[in-house]
Amino acid sequence: MQLHQVSKFFQSDPVFQNLDLSLEKGEIMSIVGPSGSGKTTLLRCLAGLEPFTEGRLLINEKDLTGTETNKRPISLVFQQPLLFPHMTILENVAYGLAFQNIKKKERHPKARELIQQVGLKGYERSYPHEMSGGQQQRISLARSLAIQPKLLLLDEPFSSLDVQLRIEMRTWVRDLLKEKQITALFITHDREEAMYMGDRVGIFHGGFQQIGEPDEVYQFPSTPFVAEFFGDHM
Ligand code: ADP
Repeated sequence: MQLHQVSKFFQSDPVFQNLDLSLEKGEIMSIVGPSGSGKTTLLRCLAGLEPFTEGRLLINEKDLTGTETNKRPISLVFQQPLLFPHMTILENVAYGLAFQNIKKKERHPKARELIQQVGLKGYERSYPHEMSGGQQQRISLARSLAIQPKLLLLDEPFSSLDVQLRIEMRTWVRDLLKEKQITALFITHDREEAMYMGDRVGIFHGGFQQIGEPDEVYQFPSTPFVAEFFGDHM
């Protein structure tokens, strides 16, 4: 995944400008930054829910800048699991497959396989309200994986969970993404979570202030802002 000189303005207010970023296949990058710094806006632009004002998005050398949301090989997992309440877990996951030109009779078997992969075999006929927050977030992830995304965007996916579950989920999600070699951008405001999840960590505040491996950013913050926000010099 590559971003070339992307900018986003709301009216004349810049959220970020002239951003470049390149992720290897299978790489997970964490993004941390203060509230209102533009992290969600960046993810929404990548998912096609908002247009970039300038710049280009490429995946495997294909320019996706103007591609509609449903036609992008990109999935977004939100803070709150967004499941359809009137559909079973199986139907929720199978729904994502409808956008992928997968024949109707193949959708349920494929959805079953995904539900198994997120560790929820046996819950196919349950409804979202019968599941815990952590289980619902696993289903959201299964639904996002259904389109076989080339880029997975995770916007504080664990923030509605309690501390113990957050720790379990981050281990489990990281292992799953690595096993499937899924490229991912992971937003969090939790410094430890960022360091655990990311092969690299980007400190975001109107653009990337610093990008580096977790230890490097922690021990050698490149600006006073990074030091105060993330570094060992607090
Ligand atoms: P973060 O995810 O880092 O908390 P956001 O991306 O939500 O930050 O917000 C970045 C900035 O963009 C904020 O100042 C916010 O008010 C502004 N913003 C976000 N969405 C809109 C919108 N649809 N219209 C105008 N301003 C927006």
